[in-house]
Amino acid sequence: MRDPDAQYHKPLPAITSINRPFWDALRRHELSMQKCDGCGLIWYPPSPLCPCCWSRSIAWVKLSGRGRVSSWVVFHQSYFKSFDAEIPYNVVEVELDEGPRILANVVGISNDKIRTGIPVEIVFDDVTDEVTLARFKPR
Ligand SMILES: [Zn+2]
Repeated sequence: MRDPDAQYHKPLPAITSINRPFWDALRRHELSMQKCDGCGLIWYPPSPLCPCCWSRSIAWVKLSGRGRVSSWVVFHQSYFKSFDAEIPYNVVEVELDEGPRILANVVGISNDKIRTGIPVEIVFDDVTDEVTLARFKPR
C-alpha cells in the first residue's frame, strides 16, 4: 500500500483516450492489452487499429502478467534529477507469454544477476493515486 504522504517526483505517463484502458487496468492491478478480433494479434503500445491487419475491431483482454526478460540495460547516468538516488538502475524489456513486449524495471534481483531469458511476473507499483506502474520480479 502506498504511503499517502509520499511524493512521487519521477515523470508520469501521458494518459490519452487511446491508452486509458491500459492505465485503468494497472490501477486495478491487472495487465490488459488490445487484441485484434480479425487476426488475433495482441500488441503494445495501444493504438486505434491493429498494427498487423489494420482492423478497427479491437477488444481489451486481460493478460497473465508473465513473461521473460528479452533485453535489459543498467543506467549509470541520471537523465532526470528524480532518478539520482537510484543510479545504477535497470530497464528491462519483457516479452510477455502472450507475445507483446513491454519496457519496465525488474525488482527483487541485483542488476548483475539480470540475464536474457529469466522468467518474470508482473508486480504493481501504485506510485500515485492515479498511476500504477508495471514492474516485474523473477518467478
Ligand atoms: Zn489484426
